[in-house]
Amino acid sequence: MSEARTLVVAEQIDGRLSAAVARVVAAAAGIGAPIDLLVVGSQASQAAQQAARLEGVAAVICVEDSAFDHLLAENTAALIQSLAGPYSHLLSASTTGGRSLMPRVAALLGVGQVSDIIAVESPDTFVRPIYAGSVVATVRSLDDRKVVTVRPTAFEPVGEQDGVDVANAASTGDQRLARFVSEQLAEGERPELGGARVIVSGGRGLGSAENFRLIEALADRLDAAVGASRAAVDAGYVPNDLQVGQTGRMVAPELYIAAGISGAVQHLAGMKDSKVIVAINSDEEAPIFQVADYGLVADLFEALPELERKL
Ligand code: FAD
Repeated sequence: MSEARTLVVAEQIDGRLSAAVARVVAAAAGIGAPIDLLVVGSQASQAAQQAARLEGVAAVICVEDSAFDHLLAENTAALIQSLAGPYSHLLSASTTGGRSLMPRVAALLGVGQVSDIIAVESPDTFVRPIYAGSVVATVRSLDDRKVVTVRPTAFEPVGEQDGVDVANAASTGDQRLARFVSEQLAEGERPELGGARVIVSGGRGLGSAENFRLIEALADRLDAAVGASRAAVDAGYVPNDLQVGQTGRMVAPELYIAAGISGAVQHLAGMKDSKVIVAINSDEEAPIFQVADYGLVADLFEALPELERKL
């Protein structure tokens, strides 16, 4: 490795690039080195065409082999190790796939991993939240290669460019250490939490699964996804794939409406990057009001139906 160069590991499903990739490329741009993108798995060549049009990408490397579907860590880490030679930085999104893959990459390369960065200060210095976002740490990596996962919601996606070259690279194949068995995706008619433009979230203040229909009704009116606090999930009001927060989903929609949610740090960790936050809570001292752009001190059982009617 003579000069700095960054490899972004892209996720794709059925030939479609994950929306997080354009955000990871934005983080990579902050490093200031040329950026290559690695696209792997079945139908990788289709996703590679999309990757080639992401602004700031110098070249795309494509390895079409089902061994890398779902970024299966055991297989994909071996491939990345074989390609790592010229790269000073290796980045991926801190999604489930990236979080599984990159520590293995770091171990194979004999370096540490910098996790879940929210800003790039310089090629060796990164900012990352710790303690559920209540402390922001600036960390410097002294390793000769930096293996980094990126919190996608902290970066605005890059735009488009004229397509660059896509080169095929040799597959390192199936390492026969693990096998992908199945995946179950919750299907619903509402937008998916991770990509939703608007999210309406409810907490313990709703009081029951039945009352949660107030949240769902407002969400349907706004074509929004439904989210929840952990207390609402633990109480059985909604399934746990709707949980937003440190141990749930990280979201950053245009509009996040939180009703009956107190605003514990673990909840804020998952939604405080939202562009506009609206809080409805009967307790004017609730910490959620500290991050809210618009706060309504009100009984949600009156405010939510009224809001829905007015909309
Ligand atoms: P509460 O804190 O009980 O708040 C309910 C709110 O509703 C109150 O503010 C109350 O004033 C209001 N309210 C009540 N009635 C009404 C009404 N009629 N009208 C209007 N407002 C009303 N939490 C998460 O959300 N996500 C996570 O990922 C997460 N991870 C965690 C990880 C760890 C390791 C730990 C220890 C905790 C985690 N938690 C998480 C839990 C977190 O600490 C809080 O317990 C939880 O977020 C509280 O949920 P809540 O705001 O719905 O409930």
